[in-house]
Amino acid sequence: MTHRLPRIALLATGGTIAGLADDASDLIGYRAAQLGIADLLARMPALDGLATLVPEDIAAIDSKDATPAFWQAVGQRVQAAVDDPDIDAVVLTHGTDTLEETAWYLQLTLRTRKPVVLTGAMRPASAALPDGPQNLADAVRVAADPRAAGRGVLVVMNARILAARRVAKQHTTSIDAFGLRDDAVGAVYDGATRWRDPVPARIPAPPFSVQTPLAPVDIVVGYAGCSTAPIDALVAEGVAGLVWAGTGNGAVPTAVASRLRAAVDAGVVVVRASRSGRGAVTRCAPDDDQPFLHSGDLDPGKSRVLLMLALGAGEPAAALQGHFDALASPRVTP
Ligand code: ASP
Repeated sequence: MTHRLPRIALLATGGTIAGLADDASDLIGYRAAQLGIADLLARMPALDGLATLVPEDIAAIDSKDATPAFWQAVGQRVQAAVDDPDIDAVVLTHGTDTLEETAWYLQLTLRTRKPVVLTGAMRPASAALPDGPQNLADAVRVAADPRAAGRGVLVVMNARILAARRVAKQHTTSIDAFGLRDDAVGAVYDGATRWRDPVPARIPAPPFSVQTPLAPVDIVVGYAGCSTAPIDALVAEGVAGLVWAGTGNGAVPTAVASRLRAAVDAGVVVVRASRSGRGAVTRCAPDDDQPFLHSGDLDPGKSRVLLMLALGAGEPAAALQGHFDALASPRVTP
C-alpha cells in the first residue's frame, strides 16, 4: 500500500515575507508583497517527502491595508480549500501587522478540524538573513502534522506555534515579535513539531461563518485626559459597536462614561476591553453599573472582530456577553 503524502494548500497574500528592498542590508525600507508564492517556495529550505504543496497567490497586499472585506475573501478561499477532500491542511502567508486579526477572524468563522496555519516574516525576502523561508518551512511542517488538527487556527513564527486565540504582535521589528505574550502551544525544532498539550477536546465554535456579514465596530483608546470626541464622532458616523480599550481593568474615566452611555442609548453596543496586554477585563463596579459588556481576556482587536461578527449575524443583545464568556481563555495569565 502506498502512503499518500498530506496535500497542503499554500495560499499567499503578500506581506514582508514577500517583500523586497533595494539592498540586502535594508530591513526596514522595503516594499511588501512583491514576490509570488512560486518565488517564496524557491527560497524555502527543502522539505523532501513531507507534503505535496498546492500553491496559489490569492492576494498581494501589505497587511496594514487589510480590511474586513479582505478577511471575508481570504476566509471564503480557505473554507473552500478545507472543504476540498483532496486537501488536508492550509498554510496562509500573511503580513505580520494585522496577522493576528485575520487569524482570529478565521478562528471564529472557519468550519473545519483540518490544520490552518498562518505565517509571515519580519524581514523582507531580500535580507541577507531572512526569517521568512524558515517560518514557511516550519508552518508547512506543522500543517503536515496530524496532531495539528482540531486545535483551531494556528500561527507559526520564529519556531513557535501559537494559538489564534491569544497571538499578538508585540515588537515592531524583532524576528521574535510574536513570542512575548502568548504561551506557545508548541514549537518546531530539530526538524520536528513538539506540542505542549494534547489536542483539546473541544474549542468553542460561535455560530459564524465566512458568509456572516461584518458590522461596523471601532476601537477607542483610553489614556489620562483623553478626549471624548472620537466616541461622539463614531456614533454620528453610524458605528454599530464600540470597543473601549481602557486602562487597567478596562477602566472608564468619569468624563468618558457619560459619552459611552449616550452611545448605548443611541443603540451602539459598548464592550470594555483593556490596553494592558495581559489579564482579563472582569465585571467590576462602577463600570458594569453601566450597560457595557466586558471582554474577558480578549484584547481590543480580537474583541472588535468578535463583536463585528456577532452584530453582523444579528445576535440578540442578550446573547452578546455570552460569546465573550464562552471564548474566555481557560488558561489564567498571572
Ligand atoms: N507591513 C508588513 C505587512 O503587514 C509587515 C510584515 O509583514 O511584517 O504586510
